[in-house]
Amino acid sequence: MKLKEKIALVTGSSQGIGQAIAIRLAQEGASIVINYRSHPEGAEETLSKVKAAGGQCHIVDGFTIQGDTGKVADVQRMIADSISHFGKLDILVNNAGIEKNANFWDVTEADYDAVMNVNLKGIFFATQAFVQHRLETKQPGKIINISSVHEELPFPHFAAYCASKGGLKMLTRNLAVELAPHGININNVAPGAIETPINTKLLNDPQKLGALLKNIPLGRLGQPGDVASMVAFLASSESDYVTGTTFFVDGGLLWNYQEQ
Ligand code: NAD
Repeated sequence: MKLKEKIALVTGSSQGIGQAIAIRLAQEGASIVINYRSHPEGAEETLSKVKAAGGQCHIVDGFTIQGDTGKVADVQRMIADSISHFGKLDILVNNAGIEKNANFWDVTEADYDAVMNVNLKGIFFATQAFVQHRLETKQPGKIINISSVHEELPFPHFAAYCASKGGLKMLTRNLAVELAPHGININNVAPGAIETPINTKLLNDPQKLGALLKNIPLGRLGQPGDVASMVAFLASSESDYVTGTTFFVDGGLLWNYQEQ
């Protein structure tokens, strides 16, 4: 078990990639704070799987916490509550993310703000609160951001999403340098096309799905567990010499992408 005695907060872990990450980190021995915005039942499902991931020799604990990661006060409260519950927080996984599909010329300020607040601003201030805690306790830490292949690849009609993930790329590069002297590592995991609810429309469109699959050298969509394995590595001491990098979990899509 790579993460025995560690405590991790995973944002947006009531479904999809976040849920898989929470369960995988628990299988590695970590106790987990499970964040949800509006689906407590999904978070409860994650919690029961997290608890089941422990064994007779090692009890894995956890709790669910409501919070909108697009709101600075909420992310600060979530970090504070995680620390007061467990006494510390070792790992922060900034997973929650949203996308909005529109022609660039039709994007509203409200939609732009919604995407930027969740995908960039909330991550900025959650990370800040986490880092303040690690500095106060003079402990190392691991930050893993779930970015996207679209921190590199254009995605027409998703301008705000691409801007947010591109911003997250540079935030990670910058913080890697600033936080390294304090023993805090930060990396991005960039999924390609993963089978989760965010892709429901695509999954129900055989023509688009077929065209996408032709672009994926490994010939299949990714599963949430594919992303979670990379996060487990980055959360563990096996990645102690790794910081400021993006790990693509995309079946080779990035190097083979042709706009449909
Ligand atoms: P999803 O829609 O299934 O899950 C997103 C999760 O984030 C949900 O649990 C949702 O409730 C939560 N969330 C959204 N806004 C929130 C908020 N304001 N506060 C708290 N929680 C909030 O999508 P997913 O595919 O599991 O996406 C997870 C991450 O992976 C996102 O950052 C997404 O951009 C990224 N990603 C996904 C794919 C993919 O193909 N699925 C590809 C690239 C990147």
